[in-house]
Amino acid sequence: MKKIKSIESIRVSVPFETGGARQGMRPGLTPWMKMESLMLRVETDDGISGWGEGFGHFVNPATEAALQTQVGPWFLGRDPSDIHSLMDLAHRSFFGFGRHGPVMYALSAVDIALWDLAAKRSGQPLFRMLGGSHGELRRYASLMRYGGDAEAIAANCVRARDAGFSMIKLHEREIPAFLAARESVEPEVQITLDVNCPWSVKEARGVVRSIREENFHWLEEPVWPPDDFEGLAVVREEGMAIAAGENVHTVHELKRCLEAGAVDVAQPSVAKVGGITPMRRMIDLAHSFGVRVVPHSFYWGPGYLATAHVIAAMPEPALLETTFVSFEIPPHPLMDPMQPTLVLSESAGLGFEPDWQALEPLVVNRQRVTARQ
Ligand SMILES: [Mg+2]
Repeated sequence: MKKIKSIESIRVSVPFETGGARQGMRPGLTPWMKMESLMLRVETDDGISGWGEGFGHFVNPATEAALQTQVGPWFLGRDPSDIHSLMDLAHRSFFGFGRHGPVMYALSAVDIALWDLAAKRSGQPLFRMLGGSHGELRRYASLMRYGGDAEAIAANCVRARDAGFSMIKLHEREIPAFLAARESVEPEVQITLDVNCPWSVKEARGVVRSIREENFHWLEEPVWPPDDFEGLAVVREEGMAIAAGENVHTVHELKRCLEAGAVDVAQPSVAKVGGITPMRRMIDLAHSFGVRVVPHSFYWGPGYLATAHVIAAMPEPALLETTFVSFEIPPHPLMDPMQPTLVLSESAGLGFEPDWQALEPLVVNRQRVTARQ
């Protein structure tokens, strides 16, 4: 029987360029100067390591604390060979600390690491172990927010189109910004609009009526709050494809979203929902409703690769969301956001093989989990 011998969390903060001025992802938020990734290394007593990643960004210190004080110590000494049973027990143990938020993100990191370990032990890339046949994926370019700056938006749409991307996502909220993007590239380049939950149902319906004839591929999270699935369904009746799901955190919450008829495109997020185990259930559930899945993936480390492997194992692989930025030092060789395709490694597991020597100056904190006294 193998046991989990050690767990280590590593926060890495990587400088990047956006091709425009820095903005917060929503009005009022601090601009992102670096991309942070909270990575987790889980090692078993036979010397094999698996990598995971938990959501994310500015909440990483809280996820790190959840890992170090609660979730990590719980897993030390346990047998990771039956991932479904072990994760089920973990969720039953921790649900009182929230079915959303840092404890769930910490559980996500562990789950991903356990799948990496299992695939390494089986000698296969994870996508193959999950039933996928090939590891070549197409990315879509998920642009940073340019605060409505039409010139920067158009320039970056052209840059993404020239790089070979067939779909580009904006994180803007203003109709002139949407139209600037649409006019900057050919009609066959798909443009999607991620507005991050700003509007009432009435406001969202008004926006849809103004832009529904303008050839946008989907409108993402138009309604506040994100769990107003009935409200989303009302907006969807206006005739634009609606995408949402990165703020849906459990299989049952997704079921309510699907039953409400809220979305055309479901976007669960592997480093939020509890990792690969629930993610695969969510994909099957959405497909059973005839709903397309294009996972959320605003990640740069093992969470990005976990999304890619899960997608490669889907019956019809989706596009892989990839933040359209240039990294000064890529977090790992497969994270090249300017390339429209990704070929997953044929090595066993996730294929997460960073150059730690190069990344070392970017490590914000590295901490080993210690057993509870
Ligand atoms: Mg989004």
